[in-house]
Amino acid sequence: MHEQIYHWLAVLRCPACRGPLALTVAGSVRALGCPACDTSFAILDQIPRLLARERVAALASYCAQYDDLRLREGWASTVPGYYQHLPFRDLTATHVAEWRLRAQSFQFLQKWLQQNHGKSSLRILDLGAGSGWLSRRLAEQHAVLALDVNAGPHGLAALPANQRRFLAVQAELERPPLAAASFEIVIANASLHYARDPAQCCAEAARVLRPGGQFIVMDSPVYPTPAAAQAAARRSAAYYAEYGVPGLAQNYGGLTDELFTAQKHFRFIRLRRDFVTRELMVKWLREKTGSAVAARFPIWIGERLPQPAENWKPGRPRAGAVLVHDRHLLTYHCLVEGLDVWRIPGGGIEPSETPEQAVQRELHEELGLTITPQRKFGPYHQPRKTDWYFLATADGAALPTNHVQPPEDGCLVQWLPLANLADFDIRPPALKWELVEYFNHHDA
Ligand SMILES: [Zn+2]
Repeated sequence: MHEQIYHWLAVLRCPACRGPLALTVAGSVRALGCPACDTSFAILDQIPRLLARERVAALASYCAQYDDLRLREGWASTVPGYYQHLPFRDLTATHVAEWRLRAQSFQFLQKWLQQNHGKSSLRILDLGAGSGWLSRRLAEQHAVLALDVNAGPHGLAALPANQRRFLAVQAELERPPLAAASFEIVIANASLHYARDPAQCCAEAARVLRPGGQFIVMDSPVYPTPAAAQAAARRSAAYYAEYGVPGLAQNYGGLTDELFTAQKHFRFIRLRRDFVTRELMVKWLREKTGSAVAARFPIWIGERLPQPAENWKPGRPRAGAVLVHDRHLLTYHCLVEGLDVWRIPGGGIEPSETPEQAVQRELHEELGLTITPQRKFGPYHQPRKTDWYFLATADGAALPTNHVQPPEDGCLVQWLPLANLADFDIRPPALKWELVEYFNHHDA
């Protein structure tokens, strides 16, 4: 199944021009295309490769060196199941104490999300997701997009594709190819200090968050002064040189408190001053870097501030019904700005309604149908909202025939043959491609 790409399709953007991307499907080969740039981006191992062309070669070399170093350091492993057990067990037994601290951070995060957002399913961007272990854990409750520059076997491909219940996207942290205002939470989990430009990362986190959203930075070393951060960066450069990978140093900078306290995009609060067993981390850092001024590992939570001239409103989520009769799909054929498009019957979800209730009400209002939702399709995340569709059943005798006029301007009912759905501009496109795949494998 390729469902994750469908769920996030409308949020993905071209890394070059930030324009929307179209999914192209040729047999089992999927790709994303930018019509504006006339460029195609591969989807390999279910991971969209959204890197700017001119960066591909340099980044491939960076990732290979980084993987090699991490393997030697014991921060990556080929032991089967290693990534599935993180952060609670380090099967290599080389960084047991550090992973115990990472597990504490993770539990802190879980508790904070629970206290502040309850049981709701949030749209979360894991910015610099690495192997995706955090995304995997968060995806048990939330809709998660994991972004990292490394899509190799110790990066985004560390977990088998069938265990990724999140969308993994290969892209650079400083330029996430994502639509604005699309997430409630952005998390930088031990990743912000790897950004070439952490301030730019913060600005991008603000852009992709909806107003009022939160940016959580955890498990990155933070220094009290710029001088201490620069000294740390020099020690890192020496460390990388000693390991024979000096090129890695350009992507490692020390973070300072000032990055968080002097932010125009966020109001940050420092929730956890440091690890409880800070001594352990300090000791590790000293051993590793000969550190003079120890880094601290706080958890920063930044509330995204409204920006001047920003006029943002949430969109109205939509619920629709996928009704099939005699191997044909019920649609509304509409003319939109001179283009033929086909819509799935449904409408907006009221704040008091579940998506199931909304689709039942809408189909009754629009076509007088009493439907029973069966299988769910979605969520389809859009920049300002999330839509749901349901495979549903209805009394066959009550179904409308072709050319009946539904209460939508300029639209007529049209039953499309299931075998040819790919030929029609069905909206939203993510639903269309998911239906094409679904009806290839299921009899309706
Ligand atoms: Zn483009």
